[in-house]
Amino acid sequence: MKNLSLPEVDFSTALAEAIAGISDAATRQVYTAAFDAPQEIEANYVACARAANLYAQPRVATTEDPVICGSLRKSDLTKLYTQYFVPEGKPARRLYEALKVSAGGKCPLCGGVGHVRNLDHYLPKANFPLYSVLPVNLIPCCRDCNTEKLNEFANVRENQTLHPYFDNERFFVEQWVHARVIPSEPPVLEYYVHPPDEWERDDKLRVEAHFLEYGLAGKFSIEAAADLPETIQTRRTTMSANSSEDFSHYLAEKGKTPTLPVNNWRRVMFSALALDRWFCSHTFP
Ligand SMILES: [Zn+2]
Repeated sequence: MKNLSLPEVDFSTALAEAIAGISDAATRQVYTAAFDAPQEIEANYVACARAANLYAQPRVATTEDPVICGSLRKSDLTKLYTQYFVPEGKPARRLYEALKVSAGGKCPLCGGVGHVRNLDHYLPKANFPLYSVLPVNLIPCCRDCNTEKLNEFANVRENQTLHPYFDNERFFVEQWVHARVIPSEPPVLEYYVHPPDEWERDDKLRVEAHFLEYGLAGKFSIEAAADLPETIQTRRTTMSANSSEDFSHYLAEKGKTPTLPVNNWRRVMFSALALDRWFCSHTFP
């Protein structure tokens, strides 16, 4: 849930670099001839992504291998990524690496819980093979977010996960992840989605879908469980004489860390702790 600036490389360049990795000249020619207007394909994708309409793009059934573009079948297009874009030693590999580092190491899909290890096709290549090497369809992400997706890409607008390159800024600068404290020893943080009331219905449903798709409740709760002992230790020691109001104020300040995105699990954790009377007044054993 962090937005990213757009990739610097365009579709034409990515295609040319991938095709340059094909050793057979006749095959290279077939691929080059198949894409007569890559700019149009890219412009169409961008327009749909900005309007949150990518779900309506024509999709191919996972089990089918039809002709998609020129004489190229789906399997030829997915090969463009797996055999000519990703492997070490291919000319396009430098583009793959550049896209990966563009997120600054932190996975934008889980808000930095995981480190970037892969590129994820926002529109999966098995269903949308035309976009298998389209840079704006390639999202740097962690291994968990790449492999643990629950569903195929949404069939309706409100089930689409967030697109770090194109989605409205509100998803990234307004708080929609919240947490509550479950009193126990040790205390547990339970994360949930509560978007601003004034958001449109589809936007509210989309953040729900994103939260569910990437299993964020569980991931955030585990991060919080690992982090919380440090705060409890502070309460036990340096802040043992402070009032619950003082402790709440201290936690609220930690919840304002400007370097972390507003929906980051740690920011949300401190804000939730600051508001929780039980936690702020509890004497930890
Ligand atoms: Zn992730």
